[in-house]
Amino acid sequence: MRPVSSTSKIGGCGMSEFRKDPLSDHWVIIAPNRAERPEQFGLGSLERSTGRCPFCRGHEADTPAQTAAYSATGRLIDQGPWQVRVIPNKFPAVENVREQRPEQRDFFRSRHGVGVHEVIIECPDHVTAFSHLSDQQISLVFQAYRDRMAYWRGDPRLAYAQIFKNSGASAGASLEHAHSQLIATPVVPTQIENELVRSADYFQQHGRCVFCEMIRRELADPIRLVEQTEQFVAFCPFASQFPYETWILPRQHGSHFEFTEDGRLVGLAVMLRKILGRMEHLLNDPGFNYLIHTAPFGSTHLSHYHWHVEILPRVSNTAGFEWGAGDYINMVTPEQAAHVLRFGREPDGRQT
Ligand SMILES: [Zn+2]
Ligand SMILES: [Zn+2]
Ligand SMILES: [Zn+2]
Repeated sequence: MRPVSSTSKIGGCGMSEFRKDPLSDHWVIIAPNRAERPEQFGLGSLERSTGRCPFCRGHEADTPAQTAAYSATGRLIDQGPWQVRVIPNKFPAVENVREQRPEQRDFFRSRHGVGVHEVIIECPDHVTAFSHLSDQQISLVFQAYRDRMAYWRGDPRLAYAQIFKNSGASAGASLEHAHSQLIATPVVPTQIENELVRSADYFQQHGRCVFCEMIRRELADPIRLVEQTEQFVAFCPFASQFPYETWILPRQHGSHFEFTEDGRLVGLAVMLRKILGRMEHLLNDPGFNYLIHTAPFGSTHLSHYHWHVEILPRVSNTAGFEWGAGDYINMVTPEQAAHVLRFGREPDGRQT
């Protein structure tokens, strides 16, 4: 599902709308509001803005009122020094309104762009590199992800919440202070729908979860393994679309990220920081995205689906072939990428 910014107004009112492409079956969010957001980065440049940062502690009045804030011990607080703060996005891709316009189920299928768009501010000080946050701080960020997802799960308007982080101008970030986002929608995003259908197919044919099977195989022959602990496994997937694409999966089968216990969130935070730190160091500090893929709200346990984190460093551009074909040309073998991320050097011994 891709948010598309446009300066033109839908029906003259500037509201968000989900549109279904009749050919590709993709949802597109038409979100004219997004075009008004400020760009702290110049086009392609990573120069630090000299302006006042709305995400720094002490500048709370510059943002919409918070929906949640956490103390250093992970307690929800109304006031006082916060460590992680969640706010509604000032320029949301979707509209958090109760009354919805009726769905159009015509040749052109569309529905009101209702949903929730929140920003998770990952630290009170002006830190821009995620890997510079402590493990404890990142654990708090993941606690906020889980709690917000569990909270929105109870909202009957919503079917799914996508948590994602854009870091660096090349990855789509418009403000440099470390932050991530949640967009919850009444539709299940196309990518998730595809993963659900494919994994259900696999389960039906083989009687087991395709993700558990991936973990088993990547551990049995660890040529694409990046990192492993008792709780999590990270590897570059066999058919990685992007150079150095890395997935983190919990070893224990679980379909819903929002049911993850605190102890596991800490393990996930430690592993993610380690991997992003290596990417920063070894790949010349690339922009990156990470995102959590999890099962939709409408279920409580799925045997065929397994939540996971996908990390996508921006070391190459999506170009004509990829846009045209929808399939990717990846110039780094996943085996080589995993070797670099695991050992800090190329398989032939060259330092990166
Ligand atoms: Zn700041
Ligand atoms: Zn599984
Ligand atoms: Zn996925």
